[in-house]
Amino acid sequence: MRASEEAFRQAAEAIPGGVNSPVRAALAVGAEPAFIARGEGAFLWDVDGNRYLDYVGSWGPLIMGHAHPAVVEAVCAAARDGLSFGAPTPGETRLARVVRDAFPSMEMVRLVSSGTEATMSAIRLARGVTGRDCIVKFEGCYHGHADALLVKAGSGALTMGVPSSAGVPAGCTASTLVARYNDLDSVRALFAERGEEIAAVIVEPVAGNMGVVPPRDGFLPGLREITEAYGSLLVFDEVMTGFRVSFGGVQALCGVDPDLTCLGKIIGGGMPLAAFGGKRRYLEQLAPLGPVYQAGTLAGNPVAVAAGLATVGLLREPGVHEGIVAKTEELARGIERLGIARGVPLRVNRAGAMFSVFFTEDEVCDYRSALSSNTELYACFYRFLRASGVYIAPSQFEALFVSAAHTDAHIADTLERIEAALARM
Ligand SMILES: *Cc1c(COP(=O)(O)O)cnc(C)c1O
Repeated sequence: MRASEEAFRQAAEAIPGGVNSPVRAALAVGAEPAFIARGEGAFLWDVDGNRYLDYVGSWGPLIMGHAHPAVVEAVCAAARDGLSFGAPTPGETRLARVVRDAFPSMEMVRLVSSGTEATMSAIRLARGVTGRDCIVKFEGCYHGHADALLVKAGSGALTMGVPSSAGVPAGCTASTLVARYNDLDSVRALFAERGEEIAAVIVEPVAGNMGVVPPRDGFLPGLREITEAYGSLLVFDEVMTGFRVSFGGVQALCGVDPDLTCLGKIIGGGMPLAAFGGKRRYLEQLAPLGPVYQAGTLAGNPVAVAAGLATVGLLREPGVHEGIVAKTEELARGIERLGIARGVPLRVNRAGAMFSVFFTEDEVCDYRSALSSNTELYACFYRFLRASGVYIAPSQFEALFVSAAHTDAHIADTLERIEAALARM
């Protein structure tokens, strides 16, 4: 680990905490980050030459694995033609069409550069078209780090013990109402009191940022009913779940038609690209057609678009997504079996090609039950696995991801190493 340790020391001099996104610092698991030299397929190599089987996949985008040759070739070809123009290119329309085919609710699509921008812009649009200020979000859901959404947020904001953040004026979150995930009554109560002021409900339709927490039957249809009754918009934040839980996201499975959808991660194939879209009548309210302003110097960047098109193109091939889901299920079931065999209390939540291992005996169905997990056990689990060459998220409250590059042999190998880790815990 010497090279990583030295790299971390140097980074910490110049970069706050040595990292450009807080969870990477691995503080929650009492470790230091591995500095990465390269990735290929299902594997990562750190600067010390250690090889890891990777279940982070850059936090979700790399569903085709690291440095997939077709994606790298598409990126290189695009780069040779120029890195950015700040003018429209045909590739953007191709990607918008791919999105519309996979997500029929997204009649129009606008490309942005990060999931944070996508949710922030979707909220602005919802407020603009309804003329209302309030939004409803759920405890433990993370929608990026825009001010209005940093309330009881998941992901890094959970493990850092900062439920919201310093530097966010009270005025920015005064219109953010918080409900409980999987609890329609908590939503009904907010609407009963302030329904006429609520522009939108934003939800991770399968939560991934408090660890994976699937919706209960009826939860998402219930949100659709309530929002419709009050003339509020329903926003699905599918930044993580889009192309991941199924090719068409959660909405292809749950039969709910959201007004707006946010995409990110996989749609950029590892490059900075995200999108928001939805019903034409709303999207036509965006500038330059309408009064809701939204813009980006690098939005629809041609190199990022090429990475996204190549990634989604590979994923769309028959059987590819199903294969990744089958391997995820095999791994999730295997971990459950090992937990029972080794007497370690754990729960595995899974949705499509994402999953989490919670160290708790209780069902994890919302933020509070997620918080009941034993984070010290997770930290042990992380450190044993990392030492044995398996790379998982350095926090209990994150999703883990399987890619097309993971083979049955990789899964079997991972289960062996997990068994050894559980045996020592
Ligand atoms: C990752 C994520 C975001 C934020 O995306 P960034 O690209 O990190 O800004 C928003 N919503 C969800 C559900 C996410 O998982």
